[in-house]
Amino acid sequence: MIDTIYIEKEIKKHPRTLEILSKFRNVRTIAIDRYGEVFNRKNQNFRIQKKNPCLILAKKHKGFVLPAPEGFGIGSSKNYYFSHMYNCIYDCSYCFLQGMYSSANFVLFVNYEDFVLEIKKLISKKENITFFSGYDCDSLALEKITGFASYILPIFKEYSNCILELRTKSNQIKPLDKIEPIKNCVIAFSLMPDKISLALDKKAPTIKRRIATIKKLSALGWKIGLRFDPLIFGDSWKDQYQDLHENIFNVINISSIHSISYGPLRFPIAMYKKINSMYQNEKLFVGPFEQNQSEVLYKQEIEEEMTEYCKNLSLNFAPESLIFNCKSN
Ligand code: SF4
Repeated sequence: MIDTIYIEKEIKKHPRTLEILSKFRNVRTIAIDRYGEVFNRKNQNFRIQKKNPCLILAKKHKGFVLPAPEGFGIGSSKNYYFSHMYNCIYDCSYCFLQGMYSSANFVLFVNYEDFVLEIKKLISKKENITFFSGYDCDSLALEKITGFASYILPIFKEYSNCILELRTKSNQIKPLDKIEPIKNCVIAFSLMPDKISLALDKKAPTIKRRIATIKKLSALGWKIGLRFDPLIFGDSWKDQYQDLHENIFNVINISSIHSISYGPLRFPIAMYKKINSMYQNEKLFVGPFEQNQSEVLYKQEIEEEMTEYCKNLSLNFAPESLIFNCKSN
């Protein structure tokens, strides 16, 4: 899949760079000074590049851990996110990464240790914190190459007052099938009705496969997050979300669920315009939307009805204490 790897000169001998390179055969490597010279190049076309993305191995220098957007959380008093990677092997039509970056190449920051130093500085304040991974990428989809989850999960074992969420659509369960479940680590799956997912979650595992993965992980003892995010409006959405909830809750023991959250579909205005221009015939971008000062979003009554309806579906199976609204505004 990857035929070209750009490598920052500064990390060309980093043990993790060497380990990652050892996983590829017949790959072209190109030395660069900083990842931005490739990633932020002008006149790139995200959609064309998405067909054959390159990997860029880089060192992150700052901004390792950032505060999560207001309204984003699953019960902790503080919420942060971090991204060891930019971009994703999947190709969801609504993905905000295509509106945010001009390049579809994957950037992987190999200095994981520096992420952990920053995480530990925040943890030492003894606050109740959730750290979200999977904001600018999928946390597990490229695990066979990155080994990031294998590295970061055991670190959280020592900090039971904190939660690590790995957000994913992947059915890749390594290293989770090889290590003891960690109570404060949540494997969170993005979910939407099967029919909608087939149309929008391109290249990602089907909902059926995601549910099968949830079943496996919960049987292994991992805590599961159910992320109905984004909620997608359309014909017969009520029936579709009802089927989805039933299909999930029929296979998972409620004691395995860490949290359930609902997130409406919203785009910053400039991002909406950019993504919409890439998908001229995509029904999703027709709405019915409205625009406020900063965002394009479903009409308020639709957003509220969908959230309430779906929350009530969950309440048939789970206590209210597990259910959260996750609005990133
Ligand atoms: S899985 Fe998430 S990060 Fe990957 S393309 Fe889909 S929305 Fe984007």
